[in-house]
Amino acid sequence: MAFDVPRLADLDVENQRVLVRVDFNVPRAEDGTITDDTRIRAAVPTIQNLLERGARPVLLSHLGRPKGTVVEELRLDAVGVRLGELLETPVRKLDESVGDAVRAAIDSMGAGEVCLLENVRFHPGETKGDPELAAAFAALGDRFVNDAFGACHRAHASVAGVARLLPAAAGFLLEKELDAFGRVLTDPDRPLVAILGGAKISDKLPVIANLVERCDAILIGGGMAYTLLAARGEPTGTSLLQADQVEAVRANLERAKETGCRILVPTDHVVADSFAADAKTQVVEVIPDGWMGLDIGPETRKTYAAEIAAARTVVWNGPMGVFEWEAFQAGTEEVGRAVEASPAYTVVGGGDSVAAVSLFDLADGMDHISTGGGASLELLEGKDLPGIEALGSR
Ligand code: ADP
Ligand code: MG
Repeated sequence: MAFDVPRLADLDVENQRVLVRVDFNVPRAEDGTITDDTRIRAAVPTIQNLLERGARPVLLSHLGRPKGTVVEELRLDAVGVRLGELLETPVRKLDESVGDAVRAAIDSMGAGEVCLLENVRFHPGETKGDPELAAAFAALGDRFVNDAFGACHRAHASVAGVARLLPAAAGFLLEKELDAFGRVLTDPDRPLVAILGGAKISDKLPVIANLVERCDAILIGGGMAYTLLAARGEPTGTSLLQADQVEAVRANLERAKETGCRILVPTDHVVADSFAADAKTQVVEVIPDGWMGLDIGPETRKTYAAEIAAARTVVWNGPMGVFEWEAFQAGTEEVGRAVEASPAYTVVGGGDSVAAVSLFDLADGMDHISTGGGASLELLEGKDLPGIEALGSR
């Protein structure tokens, strides 16, 4: 896997028009106001560095899913305003992302100015990875910097296509992500412990398959735990169960024995009589008929916390229970606190896992919190990400 990509610091950018793919796909309220500008803030160091080195940054981003047509509500104007405030620099927002007018505007940019192009997904070729659209982007710049980790698992024109046509490098945000996952996946300090949870085992089996080859232990929680329990022949009541995955799970359990990776499953559970926030609950070791597991139990939390405390590298993806509901929060919270307190190098990825980190205020104790849910999962699967591949190796 390519963790050793060309880096922004090594790219000659002075006086160059530098296309920067950023991920400004920010959450917005009904009226279009930006409710969380984390992603805009995350791109600031790269943009500032380019300005300091005398480059002319030209930013490309998507927002939402306009599906290849112009959707007024998905224009990037509000994003441009917010970026200007954060940079304390004028941001020139254009209403297109390719073409002669865009090119002329870029060529007339003054020193210290930043240009933001329109939502790249207004073009149907973007998500198709259309080479012509990639060439039209490339015609606007002299260099390309990818700082959109959250889009790197997409072979889109503004992510992968354009990277092959210009001298290219990873921006600071992408570099940070790759360093973090590289540290987990290549020659980690041991023991390396993975914590995997979330809803569906089918989403996470490819991750398990890859991590079984690398980890000393995998701690399993969340809805996916019940398919593992079923594969071991244990009763799971009405818990989330993907019967069609049982065979694949067994194969992974067998493989784990060969690689010496210990796979831990919950030994007790918080079960509920229905899938509801106010369901009747109890703690059990064996799940009774008619009950469903919605969180790991107190014994399991203790066992997992001890594993995490003894680890030297920890990677966490997926909550341990239905943490959105208070009655089923404790598993995710206690495991999260153990990660926070662990002296290990700690990496968290996954949209809901990151939400749990902020809900329980654990961010300070984490070494790296990934900005890309889907992209980080694919890294953990051991896949090559198109956006990263396209940058080539150093
Ligand atoms: P991430 O976004 O961190 O990768 P996932 O999307 O895979 O995580 O899973 C998160 C979801 O899993 C949460 O909405 C949570 O409620 C759900 N979940 C966790 N445990 C269970 C469970 N025991 N039964 C059903 N759903 C669960
Ligand atoms: Mg999720």
